[in-house]
Amino acid sequence: MALKHCCVAGLLLLCAGMRAHGGEITPIESGLDYHSYANVDQFRVTHLELDLRVDLPGKTINGIAALEFKRLDPSANQLVLDTKGLMVNDVRQKATDVLGATSKNQTIWVSRPFHMEKPDPILGSALVIELPPSRKPVESIRIDYETTAASTALQWLTAKQTAGRHKGFLYTQSQPIGARTWIPLQDTPAVRMTYKAKVHTESGVLAVMSADNDPTVKHKGEYSFIMPQPIPSYLIALAVGDIEFMATGPRTGVYAEKPVLKAAAKEFADTESMIETAEKLFGPYRWGRYDILVMPPSFPVGGMENPRLSFITPTVIAGDKSLVSVIAHELAHSWSGNLVTNATWRDLWLNEGFTDYLESRIMTAVYGAERASMEEVLGLKALRDDLKTLKPQDQVLAIDLRDRDPDLVFSNVPYQKGRLFLNFLDAKFGRERFDGFLRGYFDHFAFQSITTEEFLGYLDDNLLDRFPGIVTREAVNEWVHGPGIPADAVLPVSSAFQPVDEARTAWLAGGVAAKKIGLGWVAQQWLYFLDNMPAALRTQQLAELDKAFGFTHTQNAEIAHSWFRLVIANNYQPGFSSLEEYLKTIGRRKLIEPLYTDLMKTPAGTVFAKRVYAKARPGYHPETVKAIDAIVNPGAAEGSTDGTGAEGSE
Ligand SMILES: [Zn+2]
Repeated sequence: MALKHCCVAGLLLLCAGMRAHGGEITPIESGLDYHSYANVDQFRVTHLELDLRVDLPGKTINGIAALEFKRLDPSANQLVLDTKGLMVNDVRQKATDVLGATSKNQTIWVSRPFHMEKPDPILGSALVIELPPSRKPVESIRIDYETTAASTALQWLTAKQTAGRHKGFLYTQSQPIGARTWIPLQDTPAVRMTYKAKVHTESGVLAVMSADNDPTVKHKGEYSFIMPQPIPSYLIALAVGDIEFMATGPRTGVYAEKPVLKAAAKEFADTESMIETAEKLFGPYRWGRYDILVMPPSFPVGGMENPRLSFITPTVIAGDKSLVSVIAHELAHSWSGNLVTNATWRDLWLNEGFTDYLESRIMTAVYGAERASMEEVLGLKALRDDLKTLKPQDQVLAIDLRDRDPDLVFSNVPYQKGRLFLNFLDAKFGRERFDGFLRGYFDHFAFQSITTEEFLGYLDDNLLDRFPGIVTREAVNEWVHGPGIPADAVLPVSSAFQPVDEARTAWLAGGVAAKKIGLGWVAQQWLYFLDNMPAALRTQQLAELDKAFGFTHTQNAEIAHSWFRLVIANNYQPGFSSLEEYLKTIGRRKLIEPLYTDLMKTPAGTVFAKRVYAKARPGYHPETVKAIDAIVNPGAAEGSTDGTGAEGSE
């Protein structure tokens, strides 16, 4: 990065990133991860070896994490790692790593003194390990530990809470800062490591990881994995359950519980063509296989881009491929996010804005421009809804997350505003130049973690300065550091929504019966139809819609969500028993948080929300519980949510 960019970026940070900190205003330091204790300037972990005993009935993992690391600062003698909710039993170092050691025996490990620092409610406890001097280029330590009920990245489901109902289920959701709750490590996206893992569990269940899964492995309870590409900690993922595999293409397939396997394979049959499309646009897919794991309904996000194995909510299985943009999105992360990664959570928009842009390009190529533009218009509405409630400082792409739980601050801004920014560059520079830029960007930063400022430096050199006079750096700065949607945005439009607007208007005016409208509409048009209804409707109107279109019992989880918002706003009683079932079954935060928020606006809704939540809560992921606690029992929650219900990883 050229110096001029550092200066510009530094100045900007002083202006845009100022924040009162204990009374004093301190600028943000670009690249400094405010959500990790790890002393990454002194030590860098490069490889991780896990040996995990997963006890499904006991709901614990007993683990050994062996970390290989480089000592960047020869005088450093304390390795600091991130942990949260872990019990650390023992820390050992390879005896031959110590300066002056005579032992030739590579297998001898000696105990090292360690202690845990006082826990922080968001960050957890720093694990501090004392290390004697060493001249080895790579050193190793081994940590013996176990997870606890406070290991919030883990969700343990009883057999009853699964689709198959025979075996328990475990899954992890490490993004953003959950990996430290099941592995002691440097839990920052700035650090990348390869990993190997051995997983021991009961026979009859299958373990899968964000690594090289073998579809033909026997379900004997012993599994091993290798992830040869270096990845950040938040992409380490594990699931264990009564899971089976079905191929959908030469390098693609679906893992799911048996009752949903066939439907999932049918729904996601286009995955291979999505990969081919993405490769044509953005360069080779560099991860080997791409499989999809269909999660239990409690999975808190739409999808999680765990490399080689995206974790996907079952709520995208609508039967008609209408919600598979989530697959395009998670696949796109194989380039933006997993290949080129945000260095800190402040830089999340580099992951998500790029991925939303890539998602649209994949959807356009596979399903047509009309489908993609409809989805962009719906995304823009979601962004505008968020902007109504977000403080100006939370409307910027490079957001100040200091002292905040990044999991509770996620909004549509890094996603939809990030996409609008790339749409803007695409429109200004033209498709050919912009595609060349993107491809070069992915090659240049492949397998690296970068900051907003590093991206801006690259943008200057390879687009703004290379094709001068088209876009100024000031315009770019407004996008990255300014609130709201800049006036020069190129907003998506869809002609497919015009007949929907006309039909809605005519129906609201009483000019046409509900059953006469909606012929041939696709899911996105129904979402647009419902999402743009006036807040107040008469019971009779809702009953007419429900009779004509069966919204209360729709199998499309997104349409159901939009319908239930109208049900709640208008206290439409016939919808409430289905709403209760929906809230008790689904744990995807994007779908349920707004419903709880809406319910809490009235006394009757509050009573309903509290009653249903009490029943639903044991089935939700711990992070979902944290977020819904803050909505339904705000006084009792440990932190208040200032997010908007958008999910981290859609
Ligand atoms: Zn994403």
